[in-house]
Amino acid sequence: MIFDSHAHYDDRQFDKDRDELLTSMHKNGVDFILNSGESMRASKAGIELGQKYDFIYSAVGIHPNNTGKMTDNTLADIKELAKNKKVVAIGEIGLDYHYDNTDKTKQRLWFTKQLELAKELDMPVIIHSRDAAQECFDIIKKSEVKKGVIHCYSGSPEMALDYVKLGYYIGIGGVLTYSNARRTVETAESVPLERILLETDCPYLAPVPNRGKRNDSSMISFVAEKLSQIKGVPLDIIYETTSQNARNLFGIE
Ligand SMILES: [Zn+2]
Repeated sequence: MIFDSHAHYDDRQFDKDRDELLTSMHKNGVDFILNSGESMRASKAGIELGQKYDFIYSAVGIHPNNTGKMTDNTLADIKELAKNKKVVAIGEIGLDYHYDNTDKTKQRLWFTKQLELAKELDMPVIIHSRDAAQECFDIIKKSEVKKGVIHCYSGSPEMALDYVKLGYYIGIGGVLTYSNARRTVETAESVPLERILLETDCPYLAPVPNRGKRNDSSMISFVAEKLSQIKGVPLDIIYETTSQNARNLFGIE
């Protein structure tokens, strides 16, 4: 059983062969996919995918880099979309200070408000945190939202364990296979398997040996194999445990 806990199948890069690819997923052993929202457009597209494919679930939310024009109406629309029964999380939300193209004050405001929405709806969150590790942690802790995943985790192993203490899961993807990913490897060593989710973030971040190519959920096997080596745990246990973790978090029977 394979659960890809973070994918973007609404992305333009899948326009040519999306249906072909998704209909072949069971054959590749992929049983569940969570499509992550990053804008209104992507959130709606994720819901449509969930209506078409029984194994696709989605998250709705506004990515930090898309909060520049966000308003209270956008938040109300997200709340409305979250009522769909295939929507299982609010996300991806967070802080991204890597590029200077979004006002940091706005990022913080809409991150906080989307956390409040998740709390109100009692839904888990999918967190995007880039170059803002401590601030992101502090906002989450203050929000008292106690369930979610830190997607494509890139912080320190110590902070990962602090997130686990708060009730969070740590999302690990293709970066684990990169030769310069020492910190991600250390995180995978420290965090208990019961707190790790596998993800692709496809079409981005394809694992070695496909680094640089378009990623898809079938390539999650390269990440799982690397995690199996790091943990010294058989591959089938890696798949079973991480899938069960994702199902527990997102409430999927
Ligand atoms: Zn993403």
